[in-house]
Amino acid sequence: MSKFWSPLTASLVPYVPGEQPKDKTYIKLNTNENPYPPSPKVIEAIKDAANADLRLYPDPTCESLVNAAAAYYGLPAGQVFAGNGSDEILAFAFAAFFDPAKKLLFPDITYSFYKVYAKLYGLQTGLVPLDEQFHVRVEDFPADNGGIIIPNPNAPTAQLLPLDDIRKLLADHPNQAVIIDEAYIDFGGQSAVELIKDYPNLLVVQTLSKSRSLAGLRVGFAFGSEELIEGLNRIKNSFNSYTMDRLALAGAVASFEDDAYFKEMTAKVIATRERVTKQLLAMEFKVTDSKANFVFISHKSLAAKAIFQQLRDKGVLVRYFDQPRIDEYLRVSIGTDEEMNAFIQALQEIVGG
Ligand SMILES: *Cc1c(COP(=O)(O)O)cnc(C)c1O
Repeated sequence: MSKFWSPLTASLVPYVPGEQPKDKTYIKLNTNENPYPPSPKVIEAIKDAANADLRLYPDPTCESLVNAAAAYYGLPAGQVFAGNGSDEILAFAFAAFFDPAKKLLFPDITYSFYKVYAKLYGLQTGLVPLDEQFHVRVEDFPADNGGIIIPNPNAPTAQLLPLDDIRKLLADHPNQAVIIDEAYIDFGGQSAVELIKDYPNLLVVQTLSKSRSLAGLRVGFAFGSEELIEGLNRIKNSFNSYTMDRLALAGAVASFEDDAYFKEMTAKVIATRERVTKQLLAMEFKVTDSKANFVFISHKSLAAKAIFQQLRDKGVLVRYFDQPRIDEYLRVSIGTDEEMNAFIQALQEIVGG
């Protein structure tokens, strides 16, 4: 607490990212980063862009990148917004679309940044419980609300909500913005982007951080009706017109130009996830049906917190959430095959399998 803080600053409960410890080298399976490097074409494009033009402001409309993403999804450019990581786009969206007079709805177990943004913007929240198997039940979202946001696949449960359910949610709430946060959609899910033409209330948010190995570049997108994209631009241009720098723009465009590399890397992560899931099941772990680049696991008898600590001692970092309903679970990012072998080996020593 400081006397210099505004009442708002004093009231905030900021997001806590997964730890990035410096004390020794860990096998990092705690922040859902991609274990593989970005496409060499991305690195090349960034190097090419590191030139004298850096003295100039970047394109505030991010036109080259908006066009690349629009072409990728077959959308008009007016239905695409590009920004400095999807977290920042989510922050803009919270400011742009949600009604403070009513409750913003999201699942009780979900990406923990949502409640942080809600607080920042003075929004009331309503938590909609997942069912016993951690599935989102779209029929449980009350009609009277100030907006809805759901990650798909959900985090940290990793489970996918089928497009039919999303369609029902959009149809049931035609007067509110519904945000589908697709940070992990490329690891086996079907994007809701195809529903945009039918539902002007749908905003789909994506990121290059996970499936395109560019967490360090900070690039995200939103796709939706022109009125929603215009709403985002109104907030952005009331905050910072140059959210994306020249290097990020160049690298992100190049990433869309190397689709073969993208497909190969996501297929590798998926194959490793499926193999590791089988090994975990054989070790008496409960494993949710993951369509993400992480698994969400719980052991039959050993406490998650104890497993987390022992893995850490053995140099393997995973994520533990000390929260109701999920305090017996661990979220484990999918690393390289080598990293996952080390993880399984450490786990075997701990559970004595
Ligand atoms: C990782 C993640 C984000 C943030 O992605 P950035 O583009 O790196 O800001 C947003 N939503 C969910 C659910 C995530 O897991």
